[in-house]
Amino acid sequence: MNPSDLEFDLRHIWHPYTSMTHPLPTYPVISAAGVELELSDGRRLIDGMSSWWAAIHGYNHPVLNEAAKSQIDRMSHVMFGGITHPPAIELCQQLVAMTPAALECVFLADSGSVAVEVALKMALQYWQAKGEKRHRFLTLRHGYHGDTFGAMSVCDPDNSMHNLYKGYLPNHLFADAPQSRFEGEWQPEDITSFRQLLLQHHNEIAAVILEPIVQGAGGMRIYHPEYLRQVRKLCDEYQILLIADEIATGFGRTGKLFACEHAQIEPDILCLGKALTGGYMTLSATLTTRHVAETISQGEAGCFMHGPTFMGNPLACAVASANLKLLSDSQWQPRIQSIEAQLKVELLPLKSHTTVKDVRVLGAIGVVEMKQPVDMASLQRRFVQHGVWIRPFGRLIYLMPPYITRSDQLSKLTNAINDVII
Ligand code: PMP
Repeated sequence: MNPSDLEFDLRHIWHPYTSMTHPLPTYPVISAAGVELELSDGRRLIDGMSSWWAAIHGYNHPVLNEAAKSQIDRMSHVMFGGITHPPAIELCQQLVAMTPAALECVFLADSGSVAVEVALKMALQYWQAKGEKRHRFLTLRHGYHGDTFGAMSVCDPDNSMHNLYKGYLPNHLFADAPQSRFEGEWQPEDITSFRQLLLQHHNEIAAVILEPIVQGAGGMRIYHPEYLRQVRKLCDEYQILLIADEIATGFGRTGKLFACEHAQIEPDILCLGKALTGGYMTLSATLTTRHVAETISQGEAGCFMHGPTFMGNPLACAVASANLKLLSDSQWQPRIQSIEAQLKVELLPLKSHTTVKDVRVLGAIGVVEMKQPVDMASLQRRFVQHGVWIRPFGRLIYLMPPYITRSDQLSKLTNAINDVII
């Protein structure tokens, strides 16, 4: 790549959560295939991030390429208002079939954050249609649900941009995050804060929203399924809707198709995104029950008040549909189990290291939490020197590799972590 292009990038292009005055270095990727990213200087890096949970089958997949190419020759896009098309219908059939039976009605949107906005609005409109103005959401500390305004308002109030936006965002309710570890013993007091808030505020609460089992960007915390079971029970008791944000955890990442399955619970509203298109392009889906959909439709407006320009984009739907078929035809469960077993063998021993606070593994997710925040730029440079792509944040160095990652490739990722923390 021309050095002047990189200079242009530094000077003119925002990157996620990156300063325009002191930007962190960016690495020019010119192609990707399988689990490897190719840099412009020819170096190849094994990808440990799946492009933020998305590229589950790896890059440049012939089946997904073919789905995109054949759809592009028919039509890339057509409006969804008053029109429908085979890619959207096929995708929604698959989504309805693979999610809990009660989730029958699908809203297709542009990104994870928008799926969350849609879920929150569904809950508000549901209560409005029932003649109640419920304007608050109950959620968890350490949660993360996206960058748009509604989504930001239910992110952790201290550990996110919520702090900066105090006074701009609606004031929702935050229960203490569960402390019981996924594989540890359940501590009954974990649910106390949630229960108290629900008891106190249930008449104002439209819905509970949470990330089931794994809290992602808010700290990569992996919690006990009993917490989810108790939340579901309390929501039932107080007849409050439960929104599961499975944008990160969905489609096998935690070892189950959806993380809610670890607790054998079903949400009233489910948000999906990220891996939905296998990382090819942005698309999300919010599913709900017929009861919620019909209640909303019987309300004052007579419909759900949302309809983005690119709703049900045929190109994205065609790729998503091929991606879900690829997933269901693959042996994803044994694959994830063997990734999990290997991550446990190769990462858990790092716990004894003096600079490491904790190590956690679930499914194809491995997290090394350091005692001190890491220097992202220098660590990233060292990872690239090791031939891997791992992007740490805060005190966290973590892996969520594509499901197709081979054992030797996974070892390269874990060895690189081992080397940089020493
Ligand atoms: N919810 C969760 C749990 C997420 O991890 C993310 C993305 N990191 C989002 C919502 C937002 O998705 P997007 O970035 O596609 O808007």
